[in-house]
Amino acid sequence: MNVDTILFTHLHFDHYAGLSAFLYYQYFHCYHLHDHLTVIAPPEQIDGVLDLAIDYFRSEDCPACDRKNIGLPTLIKLPERGTLSYGDYRIDCIPSIHAVPGRCYRITNADGHSIGFSGDTAYFPELETFFAGVDTLVFENSYATKEVEPKQKPGHSSAHDAGRVAAAAGAGRLVLVHSSHTDREAAMACAGQYYHGQISYPVSGTFDEI
Ligand SMILES: [Zn+2]
Ligand SMILES: [Zn+2]
Repeated sequence: MNVDTILFTHLHFDHYAGLSAFLYYQYFHCYHLHDHLTVIAPPEQIDGVLDLAIDYFRSEDCPACDRKNIGLPTLIKLPERGTLSYGDYRIDCIPSIHAVPGRCYRITNADGHSIGFSGDTAYFPELETFFAGVDTLVFENSYATKEVEPKQKPGHSSAHDAGRVAAAAGAGRLVLVHSSHTDREAAMACAGQYYHGQISYPVSGTFDEI
């Protein structure tokens, strides 16, 4: 309930499946979603997804959950590329290459430390400059160790892409996400062919200090 900001890379179900339950508990915790929660997202689908998440409360069976009581989170719709000043943070975004509109993020705190998120995306060269010098790079590897020709990648990357981008960008650390945990060791070794810094691969049920 201490979460006050949600940043969506894009609106595919695997990235918002928990939103309805989260908004429900957030509402009963604070009663004013608008004052306590900000959602930052690409503009194309976020309104519909927020509507669906609140409709899923089924307010006909829970009058307290009526939409006019709940309100909506504060919503920041991002441009295709640009920089957002957000509290003590600077949020840079560029468009991803994916099946739906998405963003890659670079978030920098007041000390100048930064973390990059590829979101779901196929490789494109700008990723290497956008993430240049980032402290931690969280990169998807949907294809794990499979090297797939760019034309055959419908908007996703492999551990090869993640390792190459992390190396070219000079990232301080690489975190591989968005593939089956059964690929964990092989994916880390695959990215390690290109990137020689620390590579992590979060596993459900474990906590790894970033
Ligand atoms: Zn996706
Ligand atoms: Zn996804």
